[in-house]
Amino acid sequence: MANDDYEIVVGLEVHAQLLTQTKLFCADATVFGKEPNTQVSAISLGHPGTLPRLNKEAITMAVKLGLALNCSIVQQNYFARKNYFYPDLPKGYQISQHTTPICRNGFAEVSVGSENKRIRINRIHIEEDAGKSMHGEDSNFTNLDFNRAGMPLLEIVTEPDIRSGEEAFAYVTLLRRLVRQLNVCDGNMEQSSLRCDVNISVRKMGDEKLGTRVEIKNLNSIRFIKKAIEQESSRLIDLHKKGETILQQTRGLNEADFTTYAIRTKEDEDDYRYFPEPDLPPFYVSDEMIEEIRNALPPTFSETKQQLINQYALTSYEAGQLAADADLLQYFQHLAATTNNFKAAFNWVTGVIKNHLSANELDSADLNIAPKKIARLIALIDEGKINYGTASQQIFPELAANPYLEVDAFVEQQNLFLLNSDDLVDSLIDDALTKHAEKITEYKRGKKGLMSLFVGEVMKQSKGKADAKLVTQKISEKLKA
Ligand code: ADP
Ligand code: MG
Repeated sequence: MANDDYEIVVGLEVHAQLLTQTKLFCADATVFGKEPNTQVSAISLGHPGTLPRLNKEAITMAVKLGLALNCSIVQQNYFARKNYFYPDLPKGYQISQHTTPICRNGFAEVSVGSENKRIRINRIHIEEDAGKSMHGEDSNFTNLDFNRAGMPLLEIVTEPDIRSGEEAFAYVTLLRRLVRQLNVCDGNMEQSSLRCDVNISVRKMGDEKLGTRVEIKNLNSIRFIKKAIEQESSRLIDLHKKGETILQQTRGLNEADFTTYAIRTKEDEDDYRYFPEPDLPPFYVSDEMIEEIRNALPPTFSETKQQLINQYALTSYEAGQLAADADLLQYFQHLAATTNNFKAAFNWVTGVIKNHLSANELDSADLNIAPKKIARLIALIDEGKINYGTASQQIFPELAANPYLEVDAFVEQQNLFLLNSDDLVDSLIDDALTKHAEKITEYKRGKKGLMSLFVGEVMKQSKGKADAKLVTQKISEKLKA
């Protein structure tokens, strides 16, 4: 059985550290990178007798993200204690939400390849972070830094709707942009302010029932998430093919080769003995608060889409492609400000440019080609001076490698202009027809597909600089006679 006969099923749990000034339940600062244990009060350390006090800003941020992800907001909420022992958890419990995640049932719309896909959000809940254990700094000890203890987090959990590493890549990219745009999290994965647990299983194509999942913990790069899914899914498929039992495991990622290793095998559900946090009253999110936050949100996916359709006469599908990708959208808007050929602008952004980014695993933010240079390529094509193949395959890669390149000077210097001397084009056509003389009769008898052979020959001899449309026209006239 081939790998194509299997379906990969992924659900992601993303932790986003909130950009509040102070921690979730006390006034300790939240600055990144401070000396260990300098942002810790007795409350962060859970000393007996201390009392937590809820940071309202964290609620606002949760609602903001929830609304942006099309969730419904739960108005009556409470915090719960999740009890477990670990050295980095001084209280012996984590304050989290349990049966009332503040946001439920939303979705994110991502674009993958040429398709728009909806990934459902199961829930978003608020919880505090634990401290950090530092192994390896000292061979005899594990050091503990409690600066992170009590930091506010949102956990954003998808339904198992993701079907490939690529889709996961697109989803986390979108989520990172969104949290940045909304100013709820800085999205810095290398500093772990955004980190992701990947739940993954495989099943035979067409099966309804989900396979046994493994959970890969704490990935802090979008690229790793994609690679981990690709590697882990083939491991699971291999196990499945061999008829071996897949254990429900928590696994870690080996960043050198993207393989995973077992950390523990879940035999039973962990029993955290959740109960309502007695030191915090339940909290209520009012209609007014929800409306106020909703009104201050940036435009939604469908609003952006509609605006693109109106302003640039794009199709709904095209507008969707751009609306799903804030950075590409921004690039498109800059480009559209310097050209009137919006269709071509769209094609460049979602074609050559997007392919370049994904082939080099770059983020759109890394794209430093000035939009006016792409606009110049579009203009040169529209004026019939160069053709699209030359622009996309010869000039664009040079621009990507050297954003300072001047388009006109380069075209001139490399002599990339379309052949506009009729004599030259005619003589290339004659050569091509002589070379393939034996095919001409076949063509005349109706094998019209041979046209691409003739045109291809001319394009080859002209080093791609002939105007293929014109050449086709000329040949067809010649062979008619
Ligand atoms: P838990 O709270 O025990 O981690 P959840 O049921 O809340 O479990 O699921 C956590 C994540 O795992 C969700 O993103 C969910 O979509 C995903 N998930 C659950 N079952 C599977 C499965 N069989 N295969 C892939 N992902 C799964
Ligand atoms: Mg989990």
